[in-house]
Formats: sequence, structure tokens, C-alpha cells
Amino acid sequence: MGKKVVILGSTGSIGESALKVARDVGPETMEVVGLAAGTRANSLCHQAKEFGVREVCIFDEGKKTEVSKALPTARVATGLEGLIDLATLPEADMVLISIVGTAGLKPALAAIEAGKDLAVASKEILVMAGEIVMAAAARKGVKVLPVDSEHNAIFQCLEGDCHQPEAVRRLILTASGGPFRTWEKERLSEVTLKQALKHPTWEMGRKITIDSSTLFNKGLEMIEARWLFGVGMEKVEVIVHPQSIVHSMVEFCDGSVLAQLSTTDMCFPIQYAVTYPKRCANKLEPLDFAKLAKLDFEAPREDAFPAVRLAREAGLAGGALPAILNAANEVAVDAFIEGSLAFTGIAEVVEETMTRLSSLPGATLDELLDADAQARRVAAAQLPEGSLLGS
Ligand code: NDP
Repeated sequence: MGKKVVILGSTGSIGESALKVARDVGPETMEVVGLAAGTRANSLCHQAKEFGVREVCIFDEGKKTEVSKALPTARVATGLEGLIDLATLPEADMVLISIVGTAGLKPALAAIEAGKDLAVASKEILVMAGEIVMAAAARKGVKVLPVDSEHNAIFQCLEGDCHQPEAVRRLILTASGGPFRTWEKERLSEVTLKQALKHPTWEMGRKITIDSSTLFNKGLEMIEARWLFGVGMEKVEVIVHPQSIVHSMVEFCDGSVLAQLSTTDMCFPIQYAVTYPKRCANKLEPLDFAKLAKLDFEAPREDAFPAVRLAREAGLAGGALPAILNAANEVAVDAFIEGSLAFTGIAEVVEETMTRLSSLPGATLDELLDADAQARRVAAAQLPEGSLLGS
């Protein structure tokens, strides 16, 4: 029998890749039993018809009639309650959280409480509340399987180590470096949205593509890694690897380094998260080492891209600071997309918000949600007059 999977965020880049995996491996390995989207009713209905899914959620309540008409035999839910309903569906074995941002946090916690394994793409929820999510999962004895390619790679490398956490010296996250890797610092204030949306190696949703260009994506991943693998922030490092073939590495106390490699396709990590602990054959393009020619590595330029430093600071400080960094970044990225903030303004808004709110507590979920809300307000207040996002 296939693993029964609910996909929250099915109409996005990760959601579409997850459905590609389901087509590839077949229902005997992965059976899709629930689908949720934000606003794209049409795509959601197509997906539900193709996979014969009868449990769907469209977050945007205004689209419910459209979905119900197109799917007369399905149960159609809406809003946060609808997402939680799907996340706790009795027949589901696993819930894939691929909603951009933090809207998937409460559904993820509900899924854990209902005893479901999680496959997590939404790094923002682990940055904001990783300690709470991992503690809840440990208490309920459910798995949190990373979908982010870097964390999936580290997860695979740690499997090869037979679970000796004390033997891990460093987790080494690889970063493509983004489209501005070689740009002089002075030119970065001129970056346009179109330029930032052109990722050199991956095709992804808008938010993560912008995050990759500022290196905040890597910053978020550093904090995500810290919680997923239960290591101190000082053990998490970043190395720029422009080809994105080595997805990440683990160095052990004896100096050995394990790495995971594949072509750049998110179907690899999604499939491993779904089929874990099994591996299963697929139709994905294998690596051709003769064609690779070379793999380059270089240190990240922290002077031009402050995101790695800011994330390290937030991760080391803990408490509410990672949630503050994440929320301020979401506001700043939206402002950059809207055209009201310069590219370099993103890191400036994040740093200023972190400075102003550094004393907020963040031990409980309520405190983290409050820090998230306050950070959004403080970040929005820094936006230039005329910004639709400003306060
Ligand atoms: P996209 O922008 O492509 O997709 C976002 C998805 O979230 C869409 O299905 C969207 O629905 C849905 N969504 C947004 N808000 C809600 C809501 N309130 N309720 C339900 N669904 C909602 O993003 P990506 O797929 O690129 O990224 C998703 C997450 O995965 C992010 O956290 C990202 O960091 C992470 N990730 C992505 C990778 C990638 O390759 N794309 C790689 C590694 C991690 P709709 O469009 O219908 O509104």
C-alpha cells in the first residue's frame, strides 16, 4: 500500500513537483489523499480531478463555490480551519507542508498532534518555531522529514552515519550564491525584480527565489538545520557552490565528509522524504559525471550579503530573534516585489527590526506569534511612504 499523503500548498512549485513524484512512483508508493491551495482554484481542481482526490481546501473562502461546482463529489474546506482539517485527515500517513511563509505552522502542529509524519518544505515555520515543532514531534513519536534539498542531503548523510550525533563536527550547507554572486557590492542597490527572479540553477516560487538572491534563503536554512538536526548554530556553515550539484555535506569528527549529489530537481528530495526509509526507482535525470567537468566552492561574501551574518546572530541568540528575522524578511521581500524597497533595503529592514525587537521573549508559541506580528509592524513602518505595505 502506498503512503497516503496530504499536500498543503499543492499549486506552488514544490506542490507541483510533489505531484510529479506521485505520477512517477505511482499510487502503490505515494497516494495523494488531500490537496490544499491558497487562491489558485482552477489548478487545485485540475489536480484533484487527475488524482481522484475528494478532500480539498482552498484557503480563500471567496473561491469555495467555484471549487465545489468543479468538484461536486469532494469535501471542500476553506481558511485555516480547512487547512487543519486536511492536516489531521484520519486516512493520511504524512502531510507535506509546502505553503510559502508561516501559514503552515498551525496545520503542521495539528498534523503532529494527530500522529502524522511531516515532510517540511516551508522552512519559515522551522525558523520561526523549530524548537516547538521538533519537541512536539519527539513527544508524539512522529518524523519530521526535510524536503529542502540541502537538509534532505544532510539527512541522507546522517543516515550513513548510523545516528551518532556526537560524531558530527560540521553541517556544511551549499548555496548557489544566487544571480549576484559575482556583482560588486556597490551595484547591488540597482538590482531589479526581474534580475532577482532569474535564479541561475533552480526554478522556484517568487519568495524563495528572491531569498536566494539576497542569501536570506541560506540564512533561513542555517536556522532550519539547527533545529532539524539538533546541533548548535556554531556547527552550521555555508559554502557557495555555483553548480548546485552537491546539495550539502556533513563533516564528522574523524575528518571524513559525506555529501549527497544529484541533478537540480526538487523531485529528488521530495521523493526521498515520502518513501523514507525506502528508496525507489524513478524516471529522474541521473548525474552524468563526465559532463559535469568541475565543481567549484567558495566562501560566501558576507560583506555584500549580510543575510548569513544576521541569521547566524539570530540563531545563536535564539528566543524570538529567528522569528523576528523571518517576519521582517517576509515584509521586506514583499516590499521589494511591490517596488517600494531597494534590493539592499531588504537586509537593512531585517537588521533594524532585529535591533529594535531584540529583547522580545520567544519561549512559547504565543510569544513567537506575538514577536512575528510585532516584527511585521516594525518592518512595515520602515518602508518608504507610499508603500502599500507600510503602516
Ligand atoms: P510557491 O509560491 O510556488 O507556492 C506557494 C504555495 O503556497 C502555493 O500553492 C500557494 O497557493 C500556497 N499558499 C500560500 N498561502 C496559502 C495559504 N494561506 N493556505 C494554503 N496555501 C497557501 O512557493 P514554493 O513552492 O517555491 O515554496 C513553498 C515553500 O517551500 C517555501 O517555504 C519555500 O521556502 C520552500 N522551498 C521551496 C523550494 C522550491 O524549489 N520551490 C525549495 C526548498 C524549499 P496559491 O498559489 O494557490 O495561492
